[in-house]
Parts: sequence; C-alpha cells; structure tokens
Amino acid sequence: MIDHSLVVLNSLSGKKEPFRSIKPGYVGMYVCGPTVYSNVHLGNCRTFISFDLIYRYLNHLGYKVRYVRNITDAGHLENDEDTGEDRIAKKARIEKIEPMEVVQYFTVDFHQILKKFNNLPPGIEPTATGHIIEQIELIKKILKEGLAYQVNGSVYFDVLKFNETYQYGKLSGRKIEELIHNTRKLDGQSDKKNPQDFALWKKAEPQHIMRWPSPWGDGFPGWHLECTAMSTKYLGESFDIHGGGMDLKFPHHECEIAQAEAINKKPPVKYWLHANMLTLNGKKMAKSTGNNILPMDIFTGKNDKFSKPYSPQVVRFFMLQAHYTSVLDISQDALDASEKGYQRLMEAVNKLAKHQSGELKGEFDTDKWLKNCYAAMDDDFNSPLLIAHLFEAVKFINLIIHEDHPINYNQWKILNKMLPVFIHEVLGIGVEKESSSLAKEKLKQTVGLLIDLRNKARINKDFETSDQIRNQLKEYGIHLKDGKEGTNFTFD
Ligand SMILES: [Zn+2]
Repeated sequence: MIDHSLVVLNSLSGKKEPFRSIKPGYVGMYVCGPTVYSNVHLGNCRTFISFDLIYRYLNHLGYKVRYVRNITDAGHLENDEDTGEDRIAKKARIEKIEPMEVVQYFTVDFHQILKKFNNLPPGIEPTATGHIIEQIELIKKILKEGLAYQVNGSVYFDVLKFNETYQYGKLSGRKIEELIHNTRKLDGQSDKKNPQDFALWKKAEPQHIMRWPSPWGDGFPGWHLECTAMSTKYLGESFDIHGGGMDLKFPHHECEIAQAEAINKKPPVKYWLHANMLTLNGKKMAKSTGNNILPMDIFTGKNDKFSKPYSPQVVRFFMLQAHYTSVLDISQDALDASEKGYQRLMEAVNKLAKHQSGELKGEFDTDKWLKNCYAAMDDDFNSPLLIAHLFEAVKFINLIIHEDHPINYNQWKILNKMLPVFIHEVLGIGVEKESSSLAKEKLKQTVGLLIDLRNKARINKDFETSDQIRNQLKEYGIHLKDGKEGTNFTFD
C-alpha cells in the first residue's frame, strides 16, 4: 500500500500545504462554472479539464467527493464594475430570442463539449436563477450585519466597513489602500458609496427582462452572490476546495470570501485552487483580436489556425502535459507532438496487454515506478510528471517487445493494471474511436502509396497490377478517380 501525502498549492497562502479534508474521507469541492451566453472557449475548457483531473484523483484516492459546479444564467454583467448589460439578456436581445433559450442552447453546448473531452459531470450543477430565494436571504443577513447598504432599489456590499473587522483582498494579495488609490473616483452616476463596493442586488430598469421581486423592489442578484449561495447551500459554511480560473481570483473570489465571512464570521474555504490560462500561438486568446479558437473548430479542422483536425483526447492529453498552475501555449507543433505521444502511449498499453508474461529479463523497477507515479500526483496533481513516468514504462514495454524479452509476471501484472488506471481513470484520457484524425491520416498516406505504385505499374504497362490495385481498393470502399491533376480518391 502506498502512503499518500497529497499537497496542494493554496492560493490563499501562496504555499503548498498538506491536504487534510475537513471531514476525514470526504471532500467538498466547488468550481465556478460558465456564464452560458456563448460557446465555451478553449481556455475555459482547460480550467474544467484541470478540475476534472483533481476530481478524478481525489476519487481515485478513495475520497467521497461532492463536486458542485454552477451554471451562471443571470446576474453576470458585461463589466466587472457592476455596469453594462446582463450578458445573457444582451445575447437574447441581439438574437431576438428568450434569455432562457440562450441559456438552454449554450448549456447543452457546454455539456457536449466537456463530454467530448471525457470530463466527468459534477454531482450537483445548480443555476443562479434556481437560487434567487437563497440569494435574497443572504442579502438580508449581510444587511443585518451592517455590512451592506440599500440605495435606490439596489443593495451594495460595504467593502470599507467589512475591512474594519475582516481583511478584504487577502486572496489576491491586494491592500485596500492600494485599491482605493488605483480606482477612479465615482462620477456621480453610481449609487455606490465607494468604488470598491460591489452589487449584491441590482435594481432592474423597466426594459430589463431578467427580473425578480425582492424586499428592495424588482431586480436581479449580483454575480458574486450566486456562488456564495450555492456553495454554502450544498457544501456547508466551510468546505474543502474552491476552484476556478486564475482570472476569477479578483474580484469574484475575493467578493465570495467577503460575503461568506460577513454572514458566517469564518473563512468559507480551506484550499483555494486556481487554474492558469491557455494562450494560442504565444498570445493571449481574445475574440476581439481574432486570436481565438473554439474546441469544435479544432476537432473538425475547420479553422485558420491549424492545418488538420485534432481529436478531443489528443487536445486533453496536450493540456495535461502542463501543470494546471502554469500558462500553457497551444500551437500546431505542440498538438502534433501530443498526437504522436498519445498514439505511442496507447500502442504500448495494447501491446503489453497481448504480451505473454514469463521469466524476468527486462530491467525495470515497477515498485519504484509506481511510487514515482503517485508521488507526482501527490505533489499538487503534477500530471506532466506523471506522464513522463508513464513514458518510462512505454520505453521499457517497447524494449521488451521489440527484443521479444519475456517479462516477469509481477512486473507485467503491475504495468498491465496500473498503466490503464493512470491513463484512463486518473488522467481521464479516453480511447479514440476509429474515426480518429490520426487513423484517417494514416489511411490517406497508405492509399497515396498505393496510387503511386499503380501509376508506376501503368507507366510500365503492367495493367494487371494497376487494375488489381484499383479493383481491390474498390472492394474496400475506396474509389480512385483519375483526373488532370492526378489521381484522387473517395470513401464510401
Ligand atoms: Zn463563482
């Protein structure tokens, strides 16, 4: 039995800390989900794949994990400063459909994409609109504590007042004095007392269609509030892990801490984990600059960034080859390398399963290997290091098979059991269907070779061979077409 000493990088302390769940054997984990007003972008997918890895490993270690990931379907405005239109209402207005049609469409899209990436669904996936009552109750409590104020039908969290007793900015390392110094003065248009204050409830203007009744009039909840309402409802006042993208640290997560501490007078989360961003060809991904790609564009190959399609499993494998806290850059070269690596890994697993075990011949310490694999994952879910260890095993497997060495039964048993466990169960990498891009690519190359041989036969007037190639391929459902530009082919 391997002794596990999992450590995680806690954003709150900035240090790696031993992981000890609040209730032994159980883990409560909350991850901020998507705002469903557009197709989920690849950077977000990386965040959700990172937390899927974490969820999978905790499950593998035997924890009973309650994993909650929300769907933001109201309250997320265009700007972080509580201004602009609601993102979903805006999309609905442009598309001339109901906001809930926008929500439904992009929620389905989100689930389909994550399923392609082999992500496990969370245990609970609550929505902001499904928890309006809970949010109103939280606002009442914060008002009662004297840490919020009501003005013109809106309610704002009083950050300066909160900071007199508690510490605002501890997660993102910001000091309140600096925040005050660095923000523009209010222009008289805002109802807020201070620019640092954030909305708990916003008054709905007459044209605002996403509105609910409240003690302060018709309105809608502030974006930060939903996560406090839903995390504490399903995981309790204090829970183990809160995750999300690095960009949510401030102000979103900072505000979540303030809201929860104002109500419960204790920190809501023991370990804050943040996943880093994905860049494309060395630059930040942004719709506005065109340096952007959607997951489906990669899977289908229909994009102007890469010359061929890559399967979801290859993209997932690529993402796990970097630590979740590091910036990762996606490029054609990187995906090509991952595709080859993925194929090598899968081939080795298949070869090993078919190989007979016998006497010890190969030099490979499987006990040490297994220890190293776990040590990698125990060190803040270090998937790139785990993958490096998996390739040590691949090297050994290829060596014994290539030289036809028998393998010691115990070694075979450990590798044959644990390689698939690490690949499929822990890393969550699935097996490609036949239609994988690599298989197609190989087929294209093979048919290309046969076309070349047929052309040579025709030049040599060996029509028997050229006809045989053509007819045999036809039987396999591959049709050759001779044209001015050479020979092409189609599949049935
Ligand atoms: Zn959130």
